[in-house]
Amino acid sequence: MKRTKKCPKCKSSDIIEIPGGRKMYSFIPTGAFSAINVIKLVCGNCGHIEDWLEDVKDIQKIKDKFGDSF
Ligand SMILES: [Zn+2]
Repeated sequence: MKRTKKCPKCKSSDIIEIPGGRKMYSFIPTGAFSAINVIKLVCGNCGHIEDWLEDVKDIQKIKDKFGDSF
């Protein structure tokens, strides 16, 4: 969906991108003062939502924080 700009459910290309960040309530907390921003892609046709990390470099931070805890 992020790369194709097409909804995987209904194949619509009407994709709305919502930026990540604390103001948008779209983030994963990794500490008291640190967080990873999460971009939301919403299909403007069927309402399907996908979450993406704003920066793929943050995957390592997710692994460090949550990798062994579940
Ligand atoms: Zn859709």
